[in-house]
Amino acid sequence: MTLPSQENVTQYIAQAGAAAWQVPQLGEGIQRRSILKVGVIGAGTMGGGISMNFATAGIDVTIVEQKPEALHRGLGVVRSNYQRSADKGRFPQTEVEARMRRLNGQLSLKALNDCDLIIEAVFENMDLKRQIFSSLDEIAKPGAILATNTSALDIDEIADVTKRPQDVIGLHFFSPANVMKLLEIVRAEKTSDEVVATSMDLAKKINKIATLVGVCPGFVGNRILFARQVQGQKLLYKGVMPWDTDKAMNAFGFKMGNFQMSDLAGLDIGWSKGEKTDNPIRDALCEMDRRGQKTKSGYYDYDAARRPIPSDITANIIKDITGVEPTHMSHDQITETCIFPMINEAVKILEENKVQRPSDIDVVWLNGYGWPADKGGPMYYADMIGAKEILKKMEELGADDPAYTPAATLRHMAKNGGKFIEIDTGGLKTTRS
Ligand code: NAD
Repeated sequence: MTLPSQENVTQYIAQAGAAAWQVPQLGEGIQRRSILKVGVIGAGTMGGGISMNFATAGIDVTIVEQKPEALHRGLGVVRSNYQRSADKGRFPQTEVEARMRRLNGQLSLKALNDCDLIIEAVFENMDLKRQIFSSLDEIAKPGAILATNTSALDIDEIADVTKRPQDVIGLHFFSPANVMKLLEIVRAEKTSDEVVATSMDLAKKINKIATLVGVCPGFVGNRILFARQVQGQKLLYKGVMPWDTDKAMNAFGFKMGNFQMSDLAGLDIGWSKGEKTDNPIRDALCEMDRRGQKTKSGYYDYDAARRPIPSDITANIIKDITGVEPTHMSHDQITETCIFPMINEAVKILEENKVQRPSDIDVVWLNGYGWPADKGGPMYYADMIGAKEILKKMEELGADDPAYTPAATLRHMAKNGGKFIEIDTGGLKTTRS
């Protein structure tokens, strides 16, 4: 492995961050729409945090919920977040009240008829999102930007229900949305230049780091995350325990390993009682009400200080389901198994033109997923490792599962050389795949 100096990595990260704002395809003179009033649908985990970004920046927000209790709860969380910051001396009490005054809670979508931008943050369900966009098409004023915060759904399918797909875009905030810097701006097939340019400018105004990406399952960040998470699950079937995988990921530099992250997010995302999914270990944990940190147990047990403790119960479930005895695997082997598929997936994303440039992938992972800064991002790190070594591992992993066959560009680079951070995509393409 070639180790770059910390100075080189820092310089690269700064350049990558600056490049992400550039969208050459937009050209000069694209009009920006004025965003003076924002609507947010859903006051849950994401809707509340998203609203805070705008209220903090001095922009009025109307938040719509279905029921008074949900609205009350959501606004209560926002207030206590602001209050905590004021109590720490970050701003005066008057600022808490000023920000809260900018938030207007409502129970009908009709209240959004004067908003310049509307961001939907309801449950991750395509039918529900399509139903909401269909209503917004009737309610929103002409020229309003209609955005979805979906984590992984097809935004073209959402835009299809409206008569104004040029105004539909993905604004993918990360949790907690008032804290996390990253914003994936997802350009759908028909999104207009004006809407993209306005969204990029707005991202700056609310102090985010934006990257422009295309529509594909999970977009850039989550698509690459899935690759890592799936490998963690596969390792369970080889007898590698969750805490061993996490230890290797922590040693690599991630604060959150695969299973620590799952426990934090909640194991019950995409699960419902009695359901058998393609992840029987997760299903079994959920059936025992081990749904992650929120139930004080998941893959791990948690002590009173919320410290994760390896769990015998989880170890027994894994053994019962996999039939495999726990085994030792070196940190290096675990790291290759989890990280190289992320690089391979990133190369496929570049081949599909779902991102503008390789360094944008690094910006996403540095700012949205805690990629260790000394390793520059997945693409920068790939150049430290070299294509040959990554290909060797991917040939092994791809032999078991076609989803992990090596990307054509990876094969090409292993044979002919070239740098990952110089893979030329020719820009983002938004045609449907
Ligand atoms: P959540 O369950 O915390 O909140 C969803 C809220 O939407 C609930 O309060 C619900 O009452 C409300 N709602 C449902 N239907 C509604 C309707 N018709 N009108 C008004 N309100 C309605 O969910 P969340 O975690 O905030 O996720 C919201 C969206 O954000 C999802 O698409 C999710 O995939 C995406 N997302 C989530 C995260 C995350 O880490 N939680 C990160 C990025 C994106």
